Amino acid sequence: MTANVTRDIAHDDLTPIRESVRALCANFPGEYWRRLDRERAYPAEFVAALTKAGFLAALIPEEYGGSGLTMTAAAAIMEEIQASGCNGAACHAQMYTMGTLLRHGSGEQKKRYLPGIARGELRLQAFGVTEPTSGTDTLSLRTTAVRDGDHYIVNGQKIWTSRAEHSDLMLLLARTAAREQTASRTAGLTVFLVDMRAARGNGLTIRPIRTMMNHATTEVFFENLRVPADAVIGREGEGFRYILSGMNAERILIAAECIGDAKWFIEKAAAYAGERVVFGRPIGQNQGVQFPIARAYIGMRAAELMVREAAGLYEAGRDCGAEANMAKHLAAEASWAAADMCVQTHGGFGVAEEFDIERKIRETRLNTVAPISTNLVLSYIAEHVLGLPRSY
Ligand SMILES: Cc1cc2nc3c(=O)[nH]c(=O)nc-3n(C[C@H](O)[C@H](O)[C@H](O)COP(=O)(O)OP(=O)(O)OC[C@H]3O[C@@H](n4cnc5c(N)ncnc54)[C@H](O)[C@@H]3O)c2cc1C
Repeated sequence: MTANVTRDIAHDDLTPIRESVRALCANFPGEYWRRLDRERAYPAEFVAALTKAGFLAALIPEEYGGSGLTMTAAAAIMEEIQASGCNGAACHAQMYTMGTLLRHGSGEQKKRYLPGIARGELRLQAFGVTEPTSGTDTLSLRTTAVRDGDHYIVNGQKIWTSRAEHSDLMLLLARTAAREQTASRTAGLTVFLVDMRAARGNGLTIRPIRTMMNHATTEVFFENLRVPADAVIGREGEGFRYILSGMNAERILIAAECIGDAKWFIEKAAAYAGERVVFGRPIGQNQGVQFPIARAYIGMRAAELMVREAAGLYEAGRDCGAEANMAKHLAAEASWAAADMCVQTHGGFGVAEEFDIERKIRETRLNTVAPISTNLVLSYIAEHVLGLPRSY
């Protein structure tokens, strides 16, 4: 069984980018990720290598020092990282969180921050939206920012703020007007670009959350944190709209990661099924073993088409809310199905640490929960595509 059974089917003109991502990832083999996983340590060397190669600045326009690539190219980068057995969740937000600043920030803010973000000197990969009590219901978040002269005073708490300890800046969504005082349901929330370097120890506290995979996620507490008024992105009170506008990019890129994961599982399973001999023949000669691999492959390819459609619509500047949600949903289901199949194909070795499958399965499991859970994708399609009554 040859390698690359899933990876040479890309049919796009991104082969050079794909190959350079693979070459970089080859320096970070399974042992590297296993060690970090055991220690719950951050893959600093891997992130530094991706940054140096310019991959994390893919979506930043050239005028700000980025590579100005398309969403399709950015998706190919994330897919190849995962298909190589690496874990892009450690830094994927550096690629897309800046989108809110790029689309809604002032000219002065863009000039001040984007070149540093493109060079990786400024890490903008903390996204403070989810709170313990609000969960998926973002509009009920309770963190407040109250104007005080040329500052805002922030109080409250975020949860699941991933990479906060490895980020210089945080995109924060906070309430600047009480819900009952606003004209519309979605008004009253404001986006801030918080400089965490100055804030830590001065009203901002980060507490890591240990999770089933190595994800560097945290809880963040704000206690009278003073944030300068010029940290507001766009207009006060319109932050919910700005945050929503960034979510399609996040969904498409995470869907691409799921496709990469699925390819990794499928390749690993196909290779093993071709080599492992039991009852005097390769296990992959049995239809009971080969059919689940074929089924996982078909599911992955179908999901991959939706990821491409969503990325194409995104870069054409067209509405892609439904496609980005469907891509994330299909790809997360495809990677989870492939993960399950991969364990079964390997029998006992599927759960042995040195095969990396048990690590990858823990990592890919997250994707049906975050950044948006399956039920909320289904609700979106039911309401916005099928015209059914809003269920929440
Ligand atoms: C490891 C990790 C990293 C994360 N990183 C970040 C981050 O960097 N920044 C950030 O802001 N957030 C982050 N999140 C948060 C993530 O976006 C949320 O966990 C996710 O959106 C689900 O919210 P919740 O966990 O509060 O679940 P809840 O909202 O409590 O929902 C729990 C379950 O109930 C279901 N449910 C809720 N309401 C309904 C309804 N009306 N109809 C049907 N089903 C419903 C949900 O689908 C879900 O399955 C992260 C989460 C995790 C676990």
